[in-house]
Amino acid sequence: MTASGYDIIIVGTGPAGLGAAFHLTELSPSLSVLLIDREKISSGGLLNDCKQNYTYPIGFSADNWTREEAERLLPLVESSLQPIIKEKQNLAVYQRRAERLGVDLLDVRQAHVGTDRSRALIHRLQTGLESRGVQFMLEREVTDVFDEAAGPGVVIAGTETVRGRKPIVAPGRKGFSFLQQVMEKLGIAYVDNVVDVGIRIETTLNNYPIVNDYYDPKFLFPDRVRTFCTNSGHARVVLERYHEFSLINGHALSTAQTANNLVNFAMLNTIGLKDPVRSGQQMAVYLGRLANEIGGGKPLMQRVGDFRMGRRSTAESFNEDLYAFPPSCPVTAGDLGLAVPARIMRHIWAALKKLDTIVPGVLHPSTIMYYPEIKMYANKPSFVDRHFRVSCNVYMVGDGAGTSRGITGAWASGIRAAEGILSGD
Ligand SMILES: Cc1cc2nc3c(=O)[nH]c(=O)nc-3n(C[C@H](O)[C@H](O)[C@H](O)COP(=O)(O)OP(=O)(O)OC[C@H]3O[C@@H](n4cnc5c(N)ncnc54)[C@H](O)[C@@H]3O)c2cc1C
Repeated sequence: MTASGYDIIIVGTGPAGLGAAFHLTELSPSLSVLLIDREKISSGGLLNDCKQNYTYPIGFSADNWTREEAERLLPLVESSLQPIIKEKQNLAVYQRRAERLGVDLLDVRQAHVGTDRSRALIHRLQTGLESRGVQFMLEREVTDVFDEAAGPGVVIAGTETVRGRKPIVAPGRKGFSFLQQVMEKLGIAYVDNVVDVGIRIETTLNNYPIVNDYYDPKFLFPDRVRTFCTNSGHARVVLERYHEFSLINGHALSTAQTANNLVNFAMLNTIGLKDPVRSGQQMAVYLGRLANEIGGGKPLMQRVGDFRMGRRSTAESFNEDLYAFPPSCPVTAGDLGLAVPARIMRHIWAALKKLDTIVPGVLHPSTIMYYPEIKMYANKPSFVDRHFRVSCNVYMVGDGAGTSRGITGAWASGIRAAEGILSGD
């Protein structure tokens, strides 16, 4: 720390913040760097599951990234995270089947840590940075970021001011409102017109055996539907809690844990909003609240067998006697048709039928569809330069600022901001 504060203050210890910190201290060890987080430990995907995708465009936003730019930085991400890349088998067989139906199956370099092992990875990253002199201020919430003539900085818990020459703001998706508030205060224009709405599928390994060959198969279907975040081994569907509602997500433990023979993955439909509805966040809130309202305060689940027959699922549909396996995340048995917008459901169901032809079995009557899984990506700020600078001295990166959609893309975004700072742009 210098007399006038830190050289760099990073808000958020997720992959975007860590990526920036590693790059800055690697290339300029004398910089004083402070990382602040409101949680005790970096939250989000580094902690949960921690699947890493090392192939463009997975995890990158096409608006901000070219293939060349992503491919230039992914090796740097890899050198910090040190992944063990998973082998794939029979890819050509699945790709041929997919192609016949107008579906793409991407060949993605992947690694998986598992929720039970992610803390060790985070610990290694944190101690690595501490050994370079980086300071951590955890369980402290940043409430403001300023960029004034007297010098930029941040405010913690509404009271304590910390100055830093270059603040990097990387608060992730959950920092959505905070980021919006900072942008409004700094007079930064932003758009928030994309949202992914979808369902999470849970089935048995027998019904989706492709995961034995390809850990997280990335299928791209027509109408902007895609598979996302596939978990197997010891896999569970989980709740992602927000202030007013809960969304669905999924994760898996490492291969060291006994398999529960379940698989879960999301089918997401990307929605681009136009006037008069322009806020993806607002749409997500309405859809999330509606589903939780119908579910009596919880998300919904429905068996494929019931959905096919046009009837709601009930507690009996989840009885092991009637169907093969109990849900790993028992929410409210109901009718997705009441909550999912019709066009989105149509697109997802059409994609699922294609998937069932490529990997026969996934639409077994016992398969469970959970809703809502919604990804609110961005308050995309209007960036001043290609390093994600938004004002004279402030940078905004990661999922919250819409520069990424996953761990590796977020890490690479942090590097890009660091490169901007180091080049003096
Ligand atoms: C349950 C779950 C599982 C996921 N699994 C995967 C996966 O397997 N693979 C994958 O690629 N992606 C996964 N993701 C997505 C992944 O987490 C994100 O893409 C990635 O973490 C984004 O990185 P980030 O640095 O932008 O934000 P985050 O990782 O969300 O980090 C932001 C940090 O900022 C802190 N913060 C926010 N606001 C403030 C504030 N005002 N003051 C101080 N600190 C603040 C937060 O506490 C947080 O630690 C998952 C997400 C979830 C929720």
